Formats: sequence, C-alpha cells, structure tokens
Amino acid sequence: MTHTGIPRTDVCIIGAGPAGALLADTLAAAGHDVVVLEAGPRFDPTDRLERMERSIRPGDSGLSVWDMGGKRDAYTSSGENFYPLNHARVKGVGGSTLHWQGMVMRLHESDFAATGPAGGEWPIDYDDLRSYYANAEQELGVAGAVDNPFSPPRDEPYPMPAFAPSHSDSIFAEACEALEITTHSVGNARNSVAYDGRSQCVGYGTCNPVCPSGAKYSADTTIEKAEAKGVRVVTEAPVQRLETTAAGERVEAAIYAKDGRTYRQEARQFILAAGGVEIPRLLLLSASDEHPDGLANSSGAVGRYFMEHLFAGMGGVLSGRETRQNHVGFMTTESHQFYDNDEPGIGPIKLEFLNYAGPSPVEIAMDSAEYGDDLLETLKASYGHNLAMGALVGQEPRKENYIGLDPSETDDHGNPVPDVHWRIGEQEKRTIARANEIQQAVLDELGVDIRWKIGPENTGPTYHHMGTTRMGTDPETSVVDARLRCHDVANLTIASSSVFVTSGAMNPTLTIAALALRAADFVDESLKQA
Ligand SMILES: Cc1cc2nc3c(=O)[nH]c(=O)nc-3n(C[C@H](O)[C@H](O)[C@H](O)COP(=O)(O)OP(=O)(O)OC[C@H]3O[C@@H](n4cnc5c(N)ncnc54)[C@H](O)[C@@H]3O)c2cc1C
Ligand code: SF4
Repeated sequence: MTHTGIPRTDVCIIGAGPAGALLADTLAAAGHDVVVLEAGPRFDPTDRLERMERSIRPGDSGLSVWDMGGKRDAYTSSGENFYPLNHARVKGVGGSTLHWQGMVMRLHESDFAATGPAGGEWPIDYDDLRSYYANAEQELGVAGAVDNPFSPPRDEPYPMPAFAPSHSDSIFAEACEALEITTHSVGNARNSVAYDGRSQCVGYGTCNPVCPSGAKYSADTTIEKAEAKGVRVVTEAPVQRLETTAAGERVEAAIYAKDGRTYRQEARQFILAAGGVEIPRLLLLSASDEHPDGLANSSGAVGRYFMEHLFAGMGGVLSGRETRQNHVGFMTTESHQFYDNDEPGIGPIKLEFLNYAGPSPVEIAMDSAEYGDDLLETLKASYGHNLAMGALVGQEPRKENYIGLDPSETDDHGNPVPDVHWRIGEQEKRTIARANEIQQAVLDELGVDIRWKIGPENTGPTYHHMGTTRMGTDPETSVVDARLRCHDVANLTIASSSVFVTSGAMNPTLTIAALALRAADFVDESLKQA
C-alpha cells in the first residue's frame, strides 16, 4: 500500500547534499513550500569528536565514519578500471561534504569552451556563472586571497582571509622560483576566522573524513538554515522512482521508502540533487511505457560520459632538513600554471603542494619488524622529514564510461544496483605522466629522496563523479538544457556535477553550488509563472 507523503508542495528536492541544501534554502527564502527527501540519516554533530577518533585509528577503512556500505549502498564496478564508489560518497544530511576535503575553486573560462573528442559543448560560459560563483563563495564560506595570476576574472574579495602558507610551502617556494613555477594560495571552504556562526579552524587535521569543530563547511548547516525558513526534510527516505503524468511530460510524484512503508510525494516542481551516480540510476529505475529507456533519456545520454579527476603524486624524504609537518590536513598552496597548457594531447593539470607528514609514527611502528632503539631511530629519521606533491588531472567525456544498472544484484529495496563502467584513457595517462615530470623536477631541485609515486599505472579517482546527465542545447545528445531542466520532462531540474559537459581539473563543488544557485532562480521563475 502506498501512503501519501506531505501534502502536495511547490518543490520536492531529492538529496540533501550541497546542491539540494542550497536550492532548498534559496527557494524557501523566495517564499516557496519545499520538501527535501534524503536517503541517509541526520548525523548528530555532537558525535563528531568520536567519529574523528575512530577515523584516526590505524586500520580504519574510512567507510565506517559515515556509516557507508552494506546492502543499502551495494554497487558493482564492471569497467576496465575499478571504481571504489562507496569511498567517493556519503549518504546523509550534508551529503559528501560531511567527508570532503573542502578545496574550492572556480572552473576556468577554457573549461566551458572545451569540447573533447566525444563532442558536446557547455551551453553556458564563465560569465553566466560569475556572479553565482561569488554567491557560492559566500554561502560555503571560502578563505582565500586574490593572488592567483591564472584564475578567471573576479571582482570581489573572498569572504575570509586566506590561511597562512604552511611551513612546507616555503620549502617548495624556493624550488619553484628556481624552476620558474609560479605558486599561489588556494581557496578553502573552512573558516580562517569565525564565520557564519561556525568557529575558526583549530587545526585538528582530520578535515577529510570529519571536522569535529565545524570549521569546515558541510551542507548540513545550509539545511539547518533552510529548515528555519520552513523547509521540511524527511530523512532515511530513499526515493525509489519518479512517477510521471499519463502522457509522460511532467513528474507527478516521487515514490520513497520510509520505515517499511512506501510514500508518494507530489509537487509542482521536482529537483534531482542526489549526486552524480544516484541521479542517473534513479532516472534509469524510473523507466515507464512513456520513457522506456529511462526517464529523461530520449538522448540515450543518461548515465553516459561519466568523468573523474585522476590523481598524480610523488613524495619522499628530505634528509638533513626538517619539514616540520604536523599533517594539518589541508593545502594552502597550488599552481595553476599548467592548467591552460597548449601542449598537444595533454589535458589540464592542477598542481598541489601537499601538507604531508608521511606515515604516522603508529603506522610506521605497526608495519616495522624493528623494536626499541632501532625503531626509535627509524621514526626519528622519517617523521618531520617528508615532503609530497599531488595533482589533479582532468578526464575527457567518453560515451563508453557510464553508470548503468546491474540487475544481477539488488539493494535493500530490491532495486538493481549502480554499475560503474570506467576506463582511464590515453590522454589522461599522458597528462598524469606530464604532472609526474613537473613533480619530479621540483623534488629533485630540493634533493628529496623520492620513495613513492602515483603515476599513470597506479592512478586512482579523486571522488568527483561528473558528466552523467550532461547539459546541452541538443535534446538528441544531452539530458538537461542551459536552465538545468530536463529536455524531456517539463518540471524536472537536475542540480549536480552530473550536468558537467567537461571535467576540467578543478575540484567540482564550488561549480555545483554556483549551478544550484542559478537553477534556483529558474525554478523560482517557473513557480511564479505557473
Ligand atoms: C573524500 C572526498 C573528498 C572530496 N573533496 C572535495 C574537495 O576538496 N573539493 C570539492 O570541490 N569536492 C570534493 N569532494 C566532492 C564533493 O563532496 C561533491 O562534489 C559534493 O558533495 C557533491 O554534492 P551534491 O549535492 O551534488 O551530491 P552529494 O553530496 O553526493 O549529496 C547527494 C545526497 O543525495 C542523497 N541521495 C542519493 N540518492 C538518493 C535517493 N534515491 N533518494 C533520496 N536521497 C538520495 C545522498 O544520500 C546524499 O546525501 C570530495 C568527495 C569525497 C568523497
Ligand atoms: S584542520 Fe580545521 S577544518 Fe580541518 S578538521 Fe581541523 S578544525 Fe576542521
């Protein structure tokens, strides 16, 4: 038996991550009646210290901190490259920003112009998002400085001053100067001073996976603001299907599960903000006679063009000189000099100077066969002497990389699980190799004894799923239009990195937030017109 949810509302938002939270708050501020359906629980902020303690215990898998895993989160990974989906997401009020690192930067103008071999072009450009980027920086609370000569144009200062460069940044700066590599600060969605009712960062260093003090932005704080404006949030209510009108042109209801029952939530406008994997999955699960290949999928592009950012890195020991790192947990310096490169066959590179302390003394001791004074000497020689660099590398949009359904395995509600088909291409491998060359040059300049390398052969994702409901002007090749509304379904908007056409190499959440704020304006307009 299906029960009625909250009486028909103006807006039903699916997902309480940053995209859903910002839309809920903005639309409530505009006077609309909003319901948010969230698959996961509401985590108690007073538990965060305990979660942090659990996360730093050696051997912690990372999944237990935010209760990921089990039948609810089952998935398969059938592509050439394995994709560890449950490490790349959190389900709960706040979404993956509960766990995220909090590095935020704008995409470059070039990202909106890039097309890639598979075609596809953003139907908007940087100027369409420019003012929304500034609003997003205010909403998330970004600490930063206007010292990046490679960044796209901006008019306003950051809401908070940048964090002071770390000690290792100053060591890197010497080598970079010698090699003519320009370094600059990086935007951080964490409080360098008290901001928006949350405390200043106190340096726990466990930002990813949990900030016990609340200094790092997470979207549960935006949900709280939305609730104060009247938004109703139903937690542990995974949406199972979207149901359309008989002709299939509008969504009529979201069908969700809660406490062993099934509910039907009706609304005038629906917004899918369930993240880059669950959005295409829900559309595919919502296939009907009117939409036989999945809802909003007349193009066949739902789930396709899945993209990630790949990691390239290198590190080692700097003998005879202390790096004095304490693993503060976030980065203060980057270089975007190699981002808009015109090297043939090489994609964008975002170079990172890691705040890296090497393995902890506990980890070294547990992995060592030594005891007593020998072990003490090893620890002294390692701790405080490590340096490391990282980089994010963009991935091209390719149709063969996709999120599908795996009917051979089902979740706790009997639905086929998401199946990730992912392959790392030749351009990405070349770009990672180029990033490694730059990293090696810097570390060699410093005389670092390189002990490890993440290169093309052992790279992995940085947990930024993008591209699975791409934006475009042509309904035959894209899922949503420039207003983020589905071409096929008049009252269904998508807010997520799933609408990205290209990946760039910048961490995606500031762009997700800017797009969500822009989509809120369009949904508001539609509600006022109807
Ligand atoms: C370890 C890690 C580090 C990261 N670091 C950074 C970083 O430094 N900078 C950056 O920009 N990004 C980073 N990210 C990525 C960032 O967290 C995501 O880009 C961002 O959270 C996506 O926001 P979203 O609102 O689109 O989706 P999500 O945050 O994924 O939220 C989606 C919500 O929808 C809910 N949901 C899913 N399915 C359903 C359903 N069927 N019914 C109802 N609800 C549903 C989920 O439970 C979830 O709460 C990181 C991610 C991880 C995992
Ligand atoms: S370093 Fe700052 S942002 Fe990170 S966990 Fe600690 S208090 Fe939070």
